Amino acid sequence: KLHNELQELKGNIRVYCRIRPFLPGQKGKQSIVEYIGENGELIVVNPAKQGKEGRRSFKFDKVYGPTATQAEVFSDTQPLIQSVLDGYNVCIFAYGQTGSGKTYTMTGPDGATEEDWGVNYRALNNLFRISQSRQSSFTYEVSVQMVEIYNEQVRDLLSSDGTQKKTLGISTAKPNGLAVPDASVQAVNSTSDVLELMDIGLKNRAKSSTALNERSSRSHSVVSIHARGVDLKSGSSLRGSLHLVDLAGSERVDRSEVTGDRLKEAQHINKSLSALGDVIFALSQKNAHVPYRNSKLTQVLQSSLGGQAKTLMFVQLNPDVSSYSETLSTLKFAERVS
Ligand code: ADP
Ligand code: MG
Repeated sequence: KLHNELQELKGNIRVYCRIRPFLPGQKGKQSIVEYIGENGELIVVNPAKQGKEGRRSFKFDKVYGPTATQAEVFSDTQPLIQSVLDGYNVCIFAYGQTGSGKTYTMTGPDGATEEDWGVNYRALNNLFRISQSRQSSFTYEVSVQMVEIYNEQVRDLLSSDGTQKKTLGISTAKPNGLAVPDASVQAVNSTSDVLELMDIGLKNRAKSSTALNERSSRSHSVVSIHARGVDLKSGSSLRGSLHLVDLAGSERVDRSEVTGDRLKEAQHINKSLSALGDVIFALSQKNAHVPYRNSKLTQVLQSSLGGQAKTLMFVQLNPDVSSYSETLSTLKFAERVS
């Protein structure tokens, strides 16, 4: 099919754009996203400019409007999950400014019910369902790690003693080895095991900070799922992994307004998001040199970016006028890598 051929030309990088709805307190607002096409096209309108001049169009693999459901979004993501059990490394991440819906897409709203579960839970559910359906020919072992990257330091979110002080080293990628070998690895057998672990992870994340929302928008969280399958007939084995990443907010911080810790945080975020952009750009150009070493984030994700790995980026947009310039810079980031 044409889509598959296109995918081959582009390598294994997909970009899906999602526009979140206005929130209950924002009824009657005018969206700056004017057109959302079935073919992945969207038009953004500059509120300060009239006519053609103020309109810019973008095109991605998919675009989801504000009424798209979590189930719809996941149905286009599902094929990637299956490939984890076929031995591929997959990375799915959400990029956008704080408040644009990254956590909603990846995890779901606070206190989510099954209906509004995000990609994380649906992916794991799916992974277990597929592995069960292959029971007669394969056995799978699935394990989970969860880390946070904050100020270029990697911390374990699943450590049983709850100490968050230790920062972890990264091993230079053996293709299917663990990128962060010293982070806790927990075996899981069902979605409910995973729900429990993610809960612990989120609590540990909260513990290390006084204001959860503040901190969670300033750090990257990475859930890594490792699947090892053994072919019951031949005894041969395969490994695949799935990295699910809720990135730090991409908003630019005004250097004249922040100092000290906040400035340092902002610089670290800026550095790691540009490093991620540079890696994906290099991959999309099929460059011989891919600059993985420029940030902890790209080092942790290395085995699932490039080579045979499959990458999906959710580009998250807030449709409000006040977000116009952030929205445009988010779209430019995405356009460069798509
Ligand atoms: P981020 O993680 O990018 O900072 P959130 O995921 O926390 O943003 O989203 C900000 C707010 O918008 C939250 O209250 C969230 O529940 C809501 N929200 C985001 N996306 C959607 C959506 N597609 N449908 C309904 N509410 C959403
Ligand atoms: Mg968030």
